[in-house]
Amino acid sequence: MAHITLSKSAFFHNLALLSKKLGGIEKLAVVLKDNAYGHGLAEMSRLCADYGIQKAVVRTCKEAHSLKSFFQKIIVLAPEQTENLHPTFSLTINTLSQIATLPPNTDVELKVDTGMHRNGIKPQELHEAFKLLTTRKLRLHGVMTHFRSADELSSDLFWQLQIWKEVKQTVYRLCKQYKLTLPLFHSANSAATLRLHTYDDDFARCGLAAYGYHEMDPVFGNFDLKPVLKLYADRITTTTLEKGARIGYGGTFTAPDSMQVSTYDIGYGDGFLRYDGQGIFKIGGKQVLGRISMDSLSLEGDAQSVCILENAKEIARFFGTISYDVLVKLNPNIKRVVIP
Ligand SMILES: *Cc1c(COP(=O)(O)O)cnc(C)c1O
Repeated sequence: MAHITLSKSAFFHNLALLSKKLGGIEKLAVVLKDNAYGHGLAEMSRLCADYGIQKAVVRTCKEAHSLKSFFQKIIVLAPEQTENLHPTFSLTINTLSQIATLPPNTDVELKVDTGMHRNGIKPQELHEAFKLLTTRKLRLHGVMTHFRSADELSSDLFWQLQIWKEVKQTVYRLCKQYKLTLPLFHSANSAATLRLHTYDDDFARCGLAAYGYHEMDPVFGNFDLKPVLKLYADRITTTTLEKGARIGYGGTFTAPDSMQVSTYDIGYGDGFLRYDGQGIFKIGGKQVLGRISMDSLSLEGDAQSVCILENAKEIARFFGTISYDVLVKLNPNIKRVVIP
């Protein structure tokens, strides 16, 4: 049966690298949204807790509920419910109108739009937000923003950082005015964490780098990250393809000579990207023979088990996408095994 291995030592190595960069493990919140970027939410949360990570970031309250025994604080980026909240949750506020929908005494993260222009309140709405938060008796746990181009070679990051600095100054002023304790500030994602030489927020929200990847311009250097996940498939059948025979849907691969081929139990139904037989796509140095089917693919030889995915970035490059996309699609039903 196809399965995924999750390397504990690789994950801990990445967490150590990021903690060191940030100046302490308490400054690292691990982003576990979307099934921990396809790795497996339960397995990765347990590993985070084992390492001593105290803060997690998820997309929904549903995800947060399954993690509440592991973390001191769980930031919910897109809360889909306002009842049955746990004290460890902090719900992200993306619009002013959302504030009126939240029950009193809920912990919240106020998201401020400093340039991404997708969600978050505008910097000029901060005063109004503080007024509403106070009236509604919400607890301002954090103030956050998100960078749009930290992985690209451009000055965008510094433009956003300047706006963020001004936002923080406004928040200091408003906290004094409303007699509130200062919230925790957080802005950096993986790319900003790796790229910035100084970072004076209270913590960073790292996803991709924790799983061992980055998508940064090579000019920023080589970071010593180790991919955590590997995907293995098992052989279903072995057969001989005669010279001139074509294999798979559409028969896109023609055997140049008689050859031994095996079919393995991974396909695009498992969330692996679909190769359409165009160009040469290799897995572990071996050419994939013909199209990838929903539940299977074929390779030359008769190996019992093959590693289908060792480096998501290499696969992403072939398909014209990014490592995030390759990882996050992996079907949650594939068995996950944590290895040392
Ligand atoms: C996904 C996400 C992150 C993590 O980004 P990485 O590039 O994976 O480190 C951080 N903050 C927010 C708001 C996100 O949505």
